[in-house]
Amino acid sequence: MKRAYLLAHPAGHSLSPAMHNAAFRYLSLEAHYEAVDVAPENLAEMVQNLRDDDVYGANVTIPHKLAVMPMMDKLSKAAKTIGAVNTIVNQNGELVGHNTDAAGFLQGLEDERVYLRKKVAVLLGAGGAARAIAYALLNSGVAKLWIYNRTTEKAAELVKEFARVGSAAVLKEDELPFIIRQAEILVNTTSVGMERGGVAPDESPLPDGLMPKQGFVCDIIYRPVRTKLLHDAREANLKIQNGLPMLVYQGAEAFRLWTGQEAPAHVMMEAAKHGLQKSEGEKQKEVVKS
Ligand code: NAP
Repeated sequence: MKRAYLLAHPAGHSLSPAMHNAAFRYLSLEAHYEAVDVAPENLAEMVQNLRDDDVYGANVTIPHKLAVMPMMDKLSKAAKTIGAVNTIVNQNGELVGHNTDAAGFLQGLEDERVYLRKKVAVLLGAGGAARAIAYALLNSGVAKLWIYNRTTEKAAELVKEFARVGSAAVLKEDELPFIIRQAEILVNTTSVGMERGGVAPDESPLPDGLMPKQGFVCDIIYRPVRTKLLHDAREANLKIQNGLPMLVYQGAEAFRLWTGQEAPAHVMMEAAKHGLQKSEGEKQKEVVKS
C-alpha cells in the first residue's frame, strides 16, 4: 500500500484526503492519503520519513510551505521562483519540492475560458498564495499586474522579487478606484471573506460599490462557496470563480507527479464538493446547538 500525506498544523477540515482517496479508488490504486497535524518542531522528522519506499510524497500547507524548502534535495523552477513548496515528491529516496498552486490556478481559469495575455490584472493580497498567483499571471503574459495589499511594503517586496518574471507594480490606496475599474482580471488572495480562521467573513476586500467595469473576478477562498466579493461581482454582471477549481487542480497536479498517471479531476471535484457540503451541514448543526 502506497501512502501520501498532508503536512499541516492544524490539519482538520481539509478536503484533500477526500479528493485524493476518491482518485486512488477510481483508478484502483492501492494507496491511502492522510492529513497529519505536524507541529513545527516535528516537521524535519516527518519530512525525513517521506523517503520511505512506500511513500509517494506529501502536500504541504500552512504553516510549513516555506520551512520545508531547505529540507528538499531538489526544487522545481516554480517552487524556487514562488519561494514555497506545496508538494513533495519522493523520487527513489530523493525529495523534490514542487509548487502546484500556480498550475492549479491557471487550469481553473482555462476551464472558464479566461484568457490572460495582454490583460490588466489586479491581485489583492501579498501573502503565500499571492506569490503563486503572481507567478502564474506574470508567466501567462498579462500586460500589467497591479498588487494591492493592506501592508504596502509586502506588495512592494513581491513586485521587486517578480520583476524578472513580468511587469508588476504596487497599487496604492489613492489609485485603487481608478485601477480597479480598469481591471479585466481581479483575484483576491487575502483572507478577508473567509470562514474558519479567516478574517471578517461577511466583508469584501474591496470598498463598497467598487468593481471592475468588465471581466473576471476570482476569489481563491472556497469557504464560503460565494464570498461577499463574488456576490458583489455577480451583481455587477461579472464572470466569477471561487477557489475550489484551484484547490482541485493543484491536487490533481500533485497526484500526477506522485503516481505518473493523469488524475481523474472530475472525481476529485465531486469529492471536494461533497466534503464542502458535509462541513456546511456540520456548521448548521453547530449553529442550531449554540
Ligand atoms: P497569508 O500568507 O496569511 O496571507 C494573508 C493575506 O491576507 C495577506 O496579504 C494579508 O495582508 C491579507 N489580510 C489578512 N487580514 C486582512 C485584513 N483584515 N484586511 C486586509 N487584508 C488582510 O495566507 P495565504 O496562505 O496567502 O492564504 C490566503 C487565502 O487564500 C486564505 O483564505 C486561504 O484559504 C486561501 N487559499 C486558497 C487556496 C486554494 O487552493 N483555493 C490555496 C491557498 C490559499 P497583510 O500582508 O497586510 O497581513
